[in-house]
Amino acid sequence: MDRDAAEPGPEPGPGPDPSRRRSGAAGALYGEFTDTLSGGVRYSVSLTESALTVQKISASPGRTKAVYDLSDCVGCRAYGGQGGADVGAYFQAYFYPFRRRWMSPGVARQRAERGFRVALLQDPLANLREAERWARAIRDASARQIPRREGVVYAELCRPCRVMVLVNPHSGRGQALQLFSGHVQGMLREAAVPYNLVITEHENHARELVRKADLSQWDALVIMSGDGLLFEVINGLMEREDWEKAIQTPLGILPGGSGNALAASIHHYTQSPPAWNEELLLSCGFILCKGLVGSLDLVSVHLASKQRLFSFLSLAWGFVADVDIESEKYRHVGAIRFLMGTLVRLASLRVYQGRLAYLPVKEVPTPGKECSTEANAPSSTPQHPSLCSALPCQLIPSTSPNHNSRLVHDSTNSNHNTITNSSNNAITTKRPETQVDSQTRAPLDSLLPALDQPLPKSWTVVGVEDFVLVLAMYQSHLAEDLWTVPGAATDDGLIHLFYVTAGISRPALLRLFLAMEKGAHLACGCPHLVYEKVRALRLEPLSPQGMITVDGEMVEYGPVQAQIHPGLARLICG
Ligand code: ADP
Ligand code: MG
Repeated sequence: MDRDAAEPGPEPGPGPDPSRRRSGAAGALYGEFTDTLSGGVRYSVSLTESALTVQKISASPGRTKAVYDLSDCVGCRAYGGQGGADVGAYFQAYFYPFRRRWMSPGVARQRAERGFRVALLQDPLANLREAERWARAIRDASARQIPRREGVVYAELCRPCRVMVLVNPHSGRGQALQLFSGHVQGMLREAAVPYNLVITEHENHARELVRKADLSQWDALVIMSGDGLLFEVINGLMEREDWEKAIQTPLGILPGGSGNALAASIHHYTQSPPAWNEELLLSCGFILCKGLVGSLDLVSVHLASKQRLFSFLSLAWGFVADVDIESEKYRHVGAIRFLMGTLVRLASLRVYQGRLAYLPVKEVPTPGKECSTEANAPSSTPQHPSLCSALPCQLIPSTSPNHNSRLVHDSTNSNHNTITNSSNNAITTKRPETQVDSQTRAPLDSLLPALDQPLPKSWTVVGVEDFVLVLAMYQSHLAEDLWTVPGAATDDGLIHLFYVTAGISRPALLRLFLAMEKGAHLACGCPHLVYEKVRALRLEPLSPQGMITVDGEMVEYGPVQAQIHPGLARLICG
């Protein structure tokens, strides 16, 4: 966070040129430079492991000091003076600290840059070398200060990385391209992230493109659209013969659509205050520039036509699917389309009859606790025995000081037992291996019998019910302002299953959706709302008409079943 303060303090005493002085701490620098903005005003500039501190040098007793947290820094560049007359050189650092909003309460990331002119000598090359030394030191220290969630282990995107950015020009209000050039392009330049822009020309363009792409050319695939374009990309990757390798390509998301649920979830996981629209875009751009890569659960979805899809967000039937599809016609208003759709559908509330069953995450007793779900059990407990053979997968070593412990265990992420070797800093994550069909080499859904076959005894059968909605979620947010799963993580290995049964009143249903903005719907005490953590589910609609969506995209209506594949994909998620 950027802190400005007026601080009295002594003037620096006489002595050798202070820009050459180094303080005792490793990597720390101190110098005196002029500001590129204010011209002649001199500043003392000091760099520590965690902050860049800039203090005005003036004869007056009051001094203005600004402290820039390096965890907010995306990059720093050095360059020589323009033309032969300027022997000075420059370095410019780019920060995105949380600052108070102008128009509304709260804080959001906002851009701040600081630039300095180095003119220690009359030799332009020596000045440039000094500016480069500062720029490199700021970049290196910033890279060590990437904010991480406690206990979660990430890989880092290699630098420089080659990124393919896929933009759907028709997503949202049709402004994705303008939003990209207005808010993201500059940030990627500041972070020295080279990219190739691909503008999709039609539906399934991105899917076809990644199905055939030479993925060795790319270190990351980034989607600037809504969730629908990422759904295309994930399914394109999973349709490849080399899907096991292809789906390990780090994926990134920038909110450019009307349904930006994954972008909202990623922002939420960084424990940042809620953000919408351009603020959410800036936050996701910042996360992308920081380049931390974590695991992403995928859910394999089977339809009656034997088609199989891979989903990263949701499977919905009833109210939520109806609102998603019916609100398409309001897409020009942006994310508020879902609120409009909700009010319209509430006015003519429908009930659907169907049969629901699921494979619950078993409750296992643990000492010292009344009970905990298996997913929260200690890391020594075998997780997902039917899925997992604990295949070690090597990640790029992280330099984070958080990662010096031998065993890093995250209570929200017990599917991954992570061992770091403190001597060489190598990180090994054991993620549950997805079983592969020995003949087709396709991913095997070991929890699911064929859709027309009876379910095993271990499943819980809800039976035939009248439902208002059935919603399976695997991320925290259903939309930018719908915090549906308070405890979710990108890779918790869980399907969070919600259903609302018939008999709920319209005001009670509206209350649930309003409470969802703060993630408080489960505390409403609504007897019609049921929430279960599951690994697999089967849904058989009996009402002749209705809509089913996967990640917000409509799929064929009919029986459907799904199972989780923990950590199958990788996501740039900070
Ligand atoms: P939104 O959140 O606004 O719905 P999405 O990313 O979900 O944005 O995209 C909506 C749909 O547009 C998806 O079904 C996607 O496959 C499709 N699509 C992608 N590129 C194009 C394009 N160039 N023209 C038309 N449709 C496209
Ligand atoms: Mg969409």
